[in-house]
This record gives sequence, structure tokens and C-alpha cells, in this order.
Amino acid sequence: MSVDGVDRKNVSVIGAGIIGASIALVLQREGHRVTLIDSDAPGTGCSFGNGGAISPDFCVPFSLPGMLRKVPGWLFDPQGPLVLRWRHLPSALPWLMRSIRAGQLERVQAVSVALHQLHSPSLRCYDQLLGGRATGIIEKTGQIYAWTSSVPGPTEALAHELRAARGVQTEVLSRTRLHELDPQLSPSFSRGLYFPDNGHTVNPLRLVQTIVGLFEAAGGCVERCRALEIERTVTAAGEQARSVRCEGKTVSSDAVVVAAGIQSTGFARALSDRVPLQAERGYHVMLPDAGIRPKIKISNRDRMFGVTPMEDGLRICGTVEIAAPDSPPDERRALALLDHAKAMYPGLNDTGATTWMGSRPSTPDSLPIIDRASRVTNVIYAFGHGHTGLTGAPMTAQLVRDLLADSGSARSPGIDSAAFRLERFARFP
Ligand SMILES: Cc1cc2nc3c(=O)[nH]c(=O)nc-3n(C[C@H](O)[C@H](O)[C@H](O)COP(=O)(O)OP(=O)(O)OC[C@H]3O[C@@H](n4cnc5c(N)ncnc54)[C@H](O)[C@@H]3O)c2cc1C
Repeated sequence: MSVDGVDRKNVSVIGAGIIGASIALVLQREGHRVTLIDSDAPGTGCSFGNGGAISPDFCVPFSLPGMLRKVPGWLFDPQGPLVLRWRHLPSALPWLMRSIRAGQLERVQAVSVALHQLHSPSLRCYDQLLGGRATGIIEKTGQIYAWTSSVPGPTEALAHELRAARGVQTEVLSRTRLHELDPQLSPSFSRGLYFPDNGHTVNPLRLVQTIVGLFEAAGGCVERCRALEIERTVTAAGEQARSVRCEGKTVSSDAVVVAAGIQSTGFARALSDRVPLQAERGYHVMLPDAGIRPKIKISNRDRMFGVTPMEDGLRICGTVEIAAPDSPPDERRALALLDHAKAMYPGLNDTGATTWMGSRPSTPDSLPIIDRASRVTNVIYAFGHGHTGLTGAPMTAQLVRDLLADSGSARSPGIDSAAFRLERFARFP
């Protein structure tokens, strides 16, 4: 049915993480009848335990020229920021090779532009999404990067260039200024960078729950069941999705959005799309009574992890572990984070610490896939947000809204969505 120029559809969204929840609310506000399907409680996947950073200024891809030289050192340092479960090497190798190739300078420039377009409106979009409820969930206090090393490394210079080209505002922090902003930080940190326009959520789970709460309050339906299959029918227009078969029920659908995080590959494969998605597993340690509370979210750039002041304690979060998503967590990765945090904040109290592991759904080029399935055009993919899904979620939702509109949405976000298409993996194998 077409009302106010919007063709209202029954849309099923598979996955109620930050991506699926944001999409469901945006589509509902567009006038669609939306069913949000998740086998677990909303927000309890990867979106549960992240570092909480909402980073409009994030425009530097993870794969950069020269990264290959650093990788062996990281891999053989058991406390380093990157580990590979060697058993998983054969299946991860193609993704790793693609990731290295994505670090070529020309590609990095293009990815940086796309990341900036996706991320820069993030805080503003969250305000729109949450209305008055953003207060108390999102802090707009900026973010700090801090280093112990006094001399910037070569990738730092490139990162600086990329940010400058995108017009990102930063303040270079001297030792004195860094310790003014974070007085409890160890004196071993000698310099920093302040991003005044970034922010963080004080509770990533509550953020998803709030979005889902708004969706339900406006009549949205949440189905707590595992989606098994996107059922299709052959029409004159080719194959079209008609329903989502779940455990115990079938949800009939005019369109389906796949936002199932790391589990999205199975749905894509069933529709004949092979997507290069790798679990980059990360860990957090939560300290309920740390005795230390930085006012501003801070990243240790030597060790590549973050420390976030959250409403229920201090979260120490990061590391990349290339492994199968369902293999058991390695507690040593979380404990290494705790050791590094203690060096960063002498006197940190770890009483009552809890740990968590989650799988970042990562593509090799740091960009998500936001596109129609290649053969079943009423299925839309929205996954692969890797390290920055919390930041990219609200704009992803707007791009999905536009893909769903047959002739473009009246409120198009006006960004070039070509960078997020599936076919890029054929152009950059
Ligand atoms: C350690 C760590 C730190 C991070 N820090 C940050 C940060 O500071 N800032 C940032 O922007 N990002 C960060 N990220 C990344 C961010 O958390 C992810 O990009 C984001 O959570 C991905 O969201 P998602 O909705 O795609 O996936 P998920 O949150 O995993 O949601 C997918 C959902 O799909 C459901 N699902 C899967 N299969 C099915 C099925 N068959 N049927 C029904 N439901 C299904 C799952 O139950 C799950 O709820 C971090 C990640 C990690 C691991």
C-alpha cells in the first residue's frame, strides 16, 4: 500500500543487535510494519560488550600500508593486540590476504571517505533516533588517544593525513595537557590526541534496549526465535523473499533485512552470495569498583585497547583474536587487557572483575555491506560493521531505508552508498 509516497511493507529484520534494532526503528518511523527477529534477548550479541565509543571522527581503516611489517611482531607477542588461533589459519587466510591488499594507499583513501560519510553524522542521528532518551545514555565528552612513545610511528602520520583530509578536528595533547585531562593516567604516557566531537555510550546494552523499547512502544513486534531460512518464491521479477521461517513460526514478509552480525554469512550463502566476513573476536574486563574514573574515554594506542567510564563501572576493552566465532573464549586475552590497564592506571582495583568475549563481524576493508542481495532483490544485507558498528548503526539504518524505498526516500541521507556494495569484493578480490 502506498501512503504519503511511501510504499508500506511488512519487513522482517533478522538480528536485534545495534544494527538491526536501529534499522527496525527507522523503518517503522518510515511507515513500514516491522518484525524484529532474534534468537536471544535484544542487544546481547556483539553489541553487548563493546567499548561504547561513538566516533563520528573515525575515518582511518584498520588495514593500512606498512601494517604487514607489524603483524609478525604482534602475532608472536602473547600479550599483543592481535592473535591468531593457528588451527583457524586455513579458513582465515583468504580474508587475511584480502585485508592486507585493502591496505594499499589508493584503496585506503577511498575507504576513509566512505567511513567518514557513514560515521560523521552518528551522534546527531542517535539524538534523532532516541529523542529525549539520548541524555544519560550517550556522553559527548570527546575521546583521547594516548601514547607512551614520544615519536609518532609511520602509520600515525598517514592516519593524521586522512583525518585532516576529512576535516576532522583534533587537539594535539602535550604531556601536561594530557595529564590535566586524565590526572590518574600513568606518567609513562607522554602525548595524546583529543577528539572533541566524539563520544561514548555509558551502557551499550541499555542503548539497544532503549531503541527496541521505542520500537515496541510504537507497536513494533519482537519475535524471540531463531531464523532458519529466508523462504523465496519465483515471480516474473525473479526470485523474491516471501517469509522468514523461524523455529516454531513463519513470519511472512514483503522484504527481509539480514542484520545478524557474524551469523549473517549463512543467510547470504543460502542466497548464493559469498561474503568475506571474519570473526575478529574481542574481549572486555568490567571493573565495578575500579577506584579510577577517567572523565573522557581513552585509548591506549601502544597496546590498542580502550578504557571507558560506564554507568556500572570501568570497561577495559579491545584486542583482536582471529578465530572461529563459536570456539571457546581464551580468558588469557582478557587478563592481558587487565595487566595493560594496571600499567596505565597504577592502583586500579580489580575486585569483582568480570570478563566477556564477542565476535566483531569484520570485512577485509573495514566497510560494512549495506546492499541488496544479488539475486533476491527484496533481501537487504546490513552487516560487517567490524570495529565500529555502534558508530555506524544509525546511518546504516538510513541507507537501508533508502534501499527499501523503490524510488529513494524523501529524507535520503545523501551519501554515496556505492562503497558499501557487495560487488566491491569482485572488483577488489
Ligand atoms: C571488544 C569489542 C569492542 C568494540 N568496541 C566498539 C566501539 O567502541 N565502538 C563501536 O562503534 N563498535 C565497537 N565494536 C564493534 C561493535 O560492537 C559491532 O560492530 C556491533 O556490535 C555489531 O552489531 P550487529 O548488530 O551487527 O551484531 P550483533 O550485536 O552481534 O547482533 C546480531 C544479532 O543477530 C542475532 N542472530 C544471529 N543469528 C540469528 C538467527 N539465525 N536468528 C535470529 N537471530 C540471530 C544474534 O543473536 C544477535 O543478537 C566493538 C566490538 C568488540 C568485540
